[in-house]
Amino acid sequence: MPFSNLGLCNPIVQAIKDLGYTAPTPIQKQAIPIIISGKDLIATAQTGTGKTAAFVLPILEIFNKERQLRGKRIRALILTPTRELAVQVAANVAKYSKNLNLSSMAVYGGIDSEPQTQRLIEGVDILVATPGRLLDLAHQRALHFDELEVLVLDEADRMVDMGFANDINKIIERLPEARQNLLFSATMSAAVRAIANDFSDNKMSKPAVEISISPKTTTAPNIDQWLITVDKDTKSALLSHLINEKKWDQALIFIEKKHGAAKLVAQLAKRGIEADSIHGDRSQAMREKILADFKSGKLKYLVATGVAARGIDIGELSRVVNYDLPFKPEEYIHRIGRTGRAGFTGEAISFVAMGDFKNLCAIESRLDHIIKRKEIEGFPVRKVVPVSILNYVRKSNKG
Ligand code: AMP
Repeated sequence: MPFSNLGLCNPIVQAIKDLGYTAPTPIQKQAIPIIISGKDLIATAQTGTGKTAAFVLPILEIFNKERQLRGKRIRALILTPTRELAVQVAANVAKYSKNLNLSSMAVYGGIDSEPQTQRLIEGVDILVATPGRLLDLAHQRALHFDELEVLVLDEADRMVDMGFANDINKIIERLPEARQNLLFSATMSAAVRAIANDFSDNKMSKPAVEISISPKTTTAPNIDQWLITVDKDTKSALLSHLINEKKWDQALIFIEKKHGAAKLVAQLAKRGIEADSIHGDRSQAMREKILADFKSGKLKYLVATGVAARGIDIGELSRVVNYDLPFKPEEYIHRIGRTGRAGFTGEAISFVAMGDFKNLCAIESRLDHIIKRKEIEGFPVRKVVPVSILNYVRKSNKG
């Protein structure tokens, strides 16, 4: 099915053709007509499914018909959990709308708000924002929500995980009742459900349609997942060995702690491997530069904490490494979803130490299969990690 059958006008269809998209992804096929019809939408879908275009394209279609924009007003608000995702979504909006007369921008914390305030003076059709900075700007009266038509919550589960539920509620309280609500989330936890229910309580909006693109086992088939059991103290040597021996062209390496990220970069450097890291302590400008270098291929190995790496879209990423296994199965699925995207094959490698056994059980239970194990010569383990029990349910509520 071509994009033009989804009710999108020619300038939009042309812009996405120029990006090399030939056919809509499943979520785009389902979501675009629903959104164009003006209905609210609650979608379970992850990064990598094409969800950004699924909500941006129909908003462009709706907005292109009539254009009235007053100073300091916005017509669509897209809330994202991180600055990186905000920048990335705004970049997509700009690409998709290049043939239209619509304005867009991203606002996020960590940088001076003055240029953002200046740009808002004339009003912006589509604003992509992180919750904290948006509230700051609203308090400063740098923007007003009275003409808002569409609200999008992107990666709603991550916003909740990062503690933004209150901010989201505060923002929603400020919005006009008559608006269209779109919510995208990789998982539907009770907290996300509560936000979605608030939408349905809004009598001014039409009943929400729910769609789900990612069933229980959510990993794409074109990701080759494997794990290596390892002792904690040999992890960095193992990583260096794999990079050198397997001649890895590229790797996004997830690590638990920010000080661990800098240490790992130094350990790799000692073995002649040039890597860099992004984590919460690095400035926004630095993070953006490192990310741009990684995307362009100038930097081949990027070490990132889970929080810093949220929402990053790196196109044809060939490999992710869980240097530290994440605690939550959802986080594992989200991380490995960064590779093997949009038709490319990818590899997801996890380092699993004895202390990770319960996490591994939880992840494999969620995947509903055991991840294949590989042994690497020269790296025998002292502390053996047993094979998981698949129907493992964590006793504490933490996971
Ligand atoms: P997202 O899930 O929005 O993060 O998108 C994942 C990746 O798929 C991005 O790099 C998009 O540019 C790409 N993409 C989105 N829609 C399509 C499509 N219909 N055909 C090919 N690639 C797409």
